[in-house]
Amino acid sequence: MQKVEFYKHNIGNDEIEEVTRVLKSTILTTGSKNSLVEELIADYLGVKGVALTSSWTAGAFLSLKAWGIGPGDEVILPALSFVASSNVVLHCGAKVVFCDVDEDTGLMTDSHVRDLITENTKAIMPVHLYGQMCDMKTLKFLTKGTSIRLFEDSAHGMECARDAIKPGKLSDAAGFSFYATKTISCGEGGAIVSSNLDFIDSIKRLRLHGMTKSASERYHKPFRLWDMTELGYKFNLPDILACLLIPQLKKIEESRQRRQEIYEYYADRFTEADIPFPKHLDKVVHSHHLFTVWAPAERRDHFLKALQDKGIGVAVNFPPIHLTEYYRKTFSYKEGDFPVSEKIGAQTLSIPIYPRLSEEERNYVADSVIEVFQG
Ligand SMILES: *Cc1c(COP(=O)(O)O)cnc(C)c1O
Repeated sequence: MQKVEFYKHNIGNDEIEEVTRVLKSTILTTGSKNSLVEELIADYLGVKGVALTSSWTAGAFLSLKAWGIGPGDEVILPALSFVASSNVVLHCGAKVVFCDVDEDTGLMTDSHVRDLITENTKAIMPVHLYGQMCDMKTLKFLTKGTSIRLFEDSAHGMECARDAIKPGKLSDAAGFSFYATKTISCGEGGAIVSSNLDFIDSIKRLRLHGMTKSASERYHKPFRLWDMTELGYKFNLPDILACLLIPQLKKIEESRQRRQEIYEYYADRFTEADIPFPKHLDKVVHSHHLFTVWAPAERRDHFLKALQDKGIGVAVNFPPIHLTEYYRKTFSYKEGDFPVSEKIGAQTLSIPIYPRLSEEERNYVADSVIEVFQG
């Protein structure tokens, strides 16, 4: 039987050479490779400030902390996302205010958010679901003249754009993930970008105990005492991991192009077979982090199993956050609270899409999905 992995990373000899160089050097932790990756990301996105962190989760948490978000404050975000998005709000002691999403795309829009804004709203967190960007222009317009922060959950890729606007351009900050299955990956890692350089400086301090100097700076620069100016955390990314991102950032567009070709093939095949999937909007550059199809809710789990039985790796992105056991029990959420998120959550089924997926595998996946849906 054929076996098609749900995901394969894109790490090759260049990445292996990078990590070998770091292992033969003095500084294994945050140092010159972090700085280089931060510069590459800044160049790629055209945003001045970048801070690497140990994960998206760590970076998003530090961002909310840097803005002083805590008890009594509210953060609005979609119920259809990964649990990390809302967990960071809870870790700050603030209140999660879920909104529902658009039926065709799964994206949060300004109209989903507008009526939820109160005097306690401190931030709004749009999630660029699957790698398709939310409309940052309308969200920016909504928060204009207020002190509400916009934080983009762009864990599904920095390759995306909408109306030629990239993540980090219109918001106060955007967060990326380099977790094991993301479009570019170093196993675990994340980045925060912002055009506010003071804010990025706070993230760099907060990621390392609130200290004024990092280990590599202490080592390489003339001896100077460091100070601790605020209570920070330990959320820095070691150079051993950061260096893996250097070659991947250089081939980021080529990899996106490969995923787009797979997307176009799937889109053609599934349109012809009448299998629904999320709408790809005009004027959007999609990162194509995930490809999902929508199955009839009552047969979705059967389809998942049937595809696995055919050797194909599948996933569910995502069960809506408010219906997980913890959120139900702690906040008394129930079915019907966010009907569109629940509908998509019950129907969604993710299939393999990554540069190393061969043509033969891609065809086999599409054939199998169509067979299962029509069976
Ligand atoms: C993966 C993911 C995260 C968390 O990323 P980490 O780097 O693992 O912390 C956050 N939001 C979304 C939408 C994700 O898919």
